[in-house]
Amino acid sequence: MLNPRNTILLMTAILLLVLLADIFRPVPVWIYGAIFLAAIAPFIYGSVSIGSGFYVKTLCYGDRQEKEIAVSFDDGPDGEITPAVLDLLLLHNIQAAFFCVGEKVAEHPDLVRRMHTEGHIVGNHSYSHHVFLDLFSGKRIQKELKRTENLICGVTGKRTKFFRPPYGVTNPAVAEAAKSLGYTVTGWSLKSRDTVINDEQALLKRLKKKLKKGDVVLFHDRGSHLVSVLRSFIQYAADKNFRIVRIDQLLNVKAYA
Ligand SMILES: [Zn+2]
Repeated sequence: MLNPRNTILLMTAILLLVLLADIFRPVPVWIYGAIFLAAIAPFIYGSVSIGSGFYVKTLCYGDRQEKEIAVSFDDGPDGEITPAVLDLLLLHNIQAAFFCVGEKVAEHPDLVRRMHTEGHIVGNHSYSHHVFLDLFSGKRIQKELKRTENLICGVTGKRTKFFRPPYGVTNPAVAEAAKSLGYTVTGWSLKSRDTVINDEQALLKRLKKKLKKGDVVLFHDRGSHLVSVLRSFIQYAADKNFRIVRIDQLLNVKAYA
């Protein structure tokens, strides 16, 4: 399995072989450049690709044989969008997952209470969602997670064990923080791109084209067009006989301690 340790071992072995070969016959400089690039590529890919599991085991989808999917919402709760999302989910009797930002949990505890009461999973999405969170130390990220966990617990009475890294970025510090607190790092397999695509039809077209059995779909409960997109998406899933189940059921992992 490709992980930081195995990558370093493999690349060191290759470098030693090339150095050995260099004794007998000069090796062109570009070969060394290529080895360097090949060595850093997995680290970069591992950071930006949440599904790679390079730094930490990450759950991103369920059983690919079952016609079941889960929906998840990041970055909330939002005073305007989240209540409308909750209304829609209630109407269709769908249980989702909300990966909440601690600062916003403190601002809207009533919405987090409502999520929990209506059967949704409340996950941890850091306290600040700081743009440079990935450059924080493991200890500082750990503090962010604990602070958010305590806020969620104060409202729901439950200790969430689902963590979704902001921006989907993982690195040794994020991995250390998540592991030390016993979190299940929870990603996604289908990104709606609802924060960058404003055209509802283009968004839906993309989702319909890419939706597969076992998918965890990522939305953000902060965009004004989300509710309308979600309404159409739920209808499409029903028309195609996809069952929308709660993420812990799809991934077969306990969401709370
Ligand atoms: Zn986020």
